Amino acid sequence: MNEANDLYEHKYSADRFRDELAEIHLSLTDEQVKKFMLTYEMLVETNKVMNLTAITDFDDVITKHFIDSLSLVRIKKIRDELVNRKDLKVIDMGTGAGFPGIPLAIVFPNVKFVLVDALMKRVKYLTALIEKINLTNVTVLQKRAEDIGRDPMHREQYDIAVSRAVANLSPLCEYCLPLVKVNGDFIAYKSNKAEEEIATSRRAISTLGGKIAGIETFLMNNPSDNEKIERNLIDIKKVKKIPATYPRKAGTPTKKPL
Ligand code: SAM
Repeated sequence: MNEANDLYEHKYSADRFRDELAEIHLSLTDEQVKKFMLTYEMLVETNKVMNLTAITDFDDVITKHFIDSLSLVRIKKIRDELVNRKDLKVIDMGTGAGFPGIPLAIVFPNVKFVLVDALMKRVKYLTALIEKINLTNVTVLQKRAEDIGRDPMHREQYDIAVSRAVANLSPLCEYCLPLVKVNGDFIAYKSNKAEEEIATSRRAISTLGGKIAGIETFLMNNPSDNEKIERNLIDIKKVKKIPATYPRKAGTPTKKPL
């Protein structure tokens, strides 16, 4: 038994995590599993003094934060890029406690991740976390989406943008599509109301140079209840550049959605 198992298998069983990883065809090294266990520990410890998540039960965190974040690999084209491209850049907008960015960065160490959140305390937590688990492929920035989307250092610099539980689809497209290169993808993690959200965001998507490339629907296990939870990954491809007027100033995308 190696060091990772010595330290963690007795404390947290990673068996169910490995089973759920296998369902999405991922297999991790013991070192990677250890990084997830350390992330769990730091999340629940810090959560005692800082509001990071409502989900703290071990099995729930495994499924609803870790596996849900990694469900991005269900989109075959994106999975192929994460696995095969050497210079891939991914941005996670409104990352909060690091979801989906941190799990993806642990699993894909060759991909560069930029994690963005408006709240300094979350950025500080994430900076301490990436140091603790030695993630060298992650940068954490305290920025608002509406500001970073206008910054030439970041505008149209990313192959993939991801975002979970941040805003409705229309403002979310205004946050994320400016950051994506033409021909790149923005993947919105959504619950069961994906079709409704798409219907009310069609104008925003086309104004912002996007086109729906596909929706990946799947059922997530629910450890605290036998009923599974519907999840949707909406893949919006950026097909053309965005007018310089977008994103509008901070607060406008949610107050006056396109
Ligand atoms: N993505 C994480 C997850 O799924 O667990 C966090 C979700 S949390 C409900 C929403 C996060 O988005 C918060 O941390 C908030 O600070 C951030 N956020 C909301 N609007 C933002 C904006 N305009 N720019 C940057 N961050 C934003």
